[in-house]
Amino acid sequence: MIVMKFGGTSVESAAAIDRVSKIVSSRLSEKPVIVVSAMSKFTDHLVAMSHAAGSGNKDKALQLSLAARERHFQAVSELLDTAVFTDLHSELEEDFNGLDDLLRGIAAVGELTPRTTDNVLSFGERVNAKIVAAAFETRGIKSKRIDSRQIIVTDASFTKAVPQFDETNDRLKEIVKAALDKTFVPVMGGFIGSTKEGIPTTIGRGGSDFSAAIVGAGLDAERIEIWTDVDGMKTTDPNLCSTALRIKNIGFEEAAELAYFGAKVLHPSTLLPAIQKNIPVLVLNSRNPSNQGTMITARAPHCRNPFKAIAAKKRITIIDIVATRMLGAHGFLRSIFEVFDRHRCAVDVVSTSEVSVSLTVDSNEAIPAIATDLQKLGDVKYEGRKAIVCLVGENLRETPGVAGKVFSAVSDINIRMISQGASEINLTFVVEEDDVPRAVRQLHDIFFADPDPEVFAFA
Ligand code: ADP
Ligand code: ASP
Ligand code: MG
Repeated sequence: MIVMKFGGTSVESAAAIDRVSKIVSSRLSEKPVIVVSAMSKFTDHLVAMSHAAGSGNKDKALQLSLAARERHFQAVSELLDTAVFTDLHSELEEDFNGLDDLLRGIAAVGELTPRTTDNVLSFGERVNAKIVAAAFETRGIKSKRIDSRQIIVTDASFTKAVPQFDETNDRLKEIVKAALDKTFVPVMGGFIGSTKEGIPTTIGRGGSDFSAAIVGAGLDAERIEIWTDVDGMKTTDPNLCSTALRIKNIGFEEAAELAYFGAKVLHPSTLLPAIQKNIPVLVLNSRNPSNQGTMITARAPHCRNPFKAIAAKKRITIIDIVATRMLGAHGFLRSIFEVFDRHRCAVDVVSTSEVSVSLTVDSNEAIPAIATDLQKLGDVKYEGRKAIVCLVGENLRETPGVAGKVFSAVSDINIRMISQGASEINLTFVVEEDDVPRAVRQLHDIFFADPDPEVFAFA
C-alpha cells in the first residue's frame, strides 16, 4: 500500500479536488490511503474565528464561520451528484451548526483554552475528509471516510499533541488496514487526532505531512507521497528565489534538516517515522502530476555541489548570557539548559566562549520568564526578529574551503552566530530577519550556478 497526502492548496476547491480524484484514480492498484488537509487557509480562518470568539466577539466569529460554510458548500455543489450532494449537504449543515454552537460557547465564557482551540482547529480536516471521500465516490472510486480522531491517538498537549505510536498503530491496523483489505480507498484528515479519552487534539501547524508519515509507518507503506503546490523540494524556497531548482533525490537526514530549519514544504517531524521504517517519501505537485518531484530516501546519489539546499527559519530570538564567574567553572551550561528544560523551550543554535553563551530559540511568549530565571546565572540580553539560515549537504564534510565561500557570499550582511552541526551536513548562521531574502539569493547564486544534473533539475 501507499499513502498519498494532499495539502491545503491541493484540496482548496472543487477544481483542485477533481484533480486529486484523477491522481488517485491513477494509483488504485497500489492500494492508496489518502490523507487530506483542510482547504487552503481554512485553518488560519479557524484560528481567527476562535480568537474572535475567545475575545467575546461572537458576531465576528459567526460571520467568519458563515463565509467558511459558503466556501465549503460552493465546492460541494460543484463536485457532487445530486443524491450524494443532498446527504452530505445536511451532514455538513449539522457540522457547521456544531461549529457555531462551539463558537457561541467560547464567546459566552470569553475564554479560549488550548483544548477548545483544538476542538475548533480540527474542524477543517474533519469536514474536508468527508468532502473528498464523497467526491471520490461520485467519480467511481470506492472510498471510505475515516475519522482520524478514532485513529491517531495522542497525549493531551493540545495544539502540539504528541502521537502515541503503539495505540495508533493498533488502530491503523484494526480500522484502516481492514478498509484497505475490503478494497476501499480510506480517506482521513491529517493534522488531527484525539486523546485516549476521545478529546480532539491537533499535532502542530502544518502537521498533515506528519500524519501521513505516521499512517505510512504504521501500515508499512511502500511509499509516502506528499502532494503539494510545487514540483518537489527545491534548492531554496521558490518564493524567496525564483531560480530555485528541483532536487531530484535527497537523503533523509538532509531533508529532515531542511524541514527543521524552515523548508515549509515538509513538516519537521515528517521524516522520523519514515526513517524508522525506511520508507521512501516523494514530494509531488498536484497541479503538475507528471513532474517527477523529489525522492527522499536513506541514501541519495553523490552530488558534485557541496550543498543540496538552503533553508531559512524566521521568528528567532537570540539570548546572550554573560557571566564572568563562569570562568573555569563547570556545571554552568547544565544550569542554563535546565532553565530551558523547565520552560519546555527547544534551543536550536548554541555558541559559547569562556565567559558567555549565546543561543537561539523560536520567539515565544515564555522568553521574558526564561530571561528572569537565567538572570540568576549572569547578565542576560535577548533580541528578537532574527533568522537562522541553514545550508545543507552531505558533501560539506569532504569539501575544503566551503565555509570561506559561504561567508564571502554574504560578506555584506551582519552575521550574529555561526555553527556547524556534528553531523557535518549543515552550516548554520544567524542574521537579521530582514536580511534573509538577500542572504539566501546571494548564496543561491554562488552555490547553484553550476548544478549537478544528476541531482538537480530546472523543471
Ligand atoms: P501544503 O499546503 O501542500 O502542505 P505548504 O504551503 O505547507 O503546502 O508547503 C509548500 C510550500 O513550501 C511551497 O509553496 C513553498 O512556498 C514552500 N517552501 C519553502 N521552502 C521550500 C523548498 N525548499 N522547496 C519547496 N517548497 C518550499
Ligand atoms: N491544516 C493544517 C494547517 O494549516 C495542517 C496542514 O495543512 O498540514 O496547519
Ligand atoms: Mg504543509
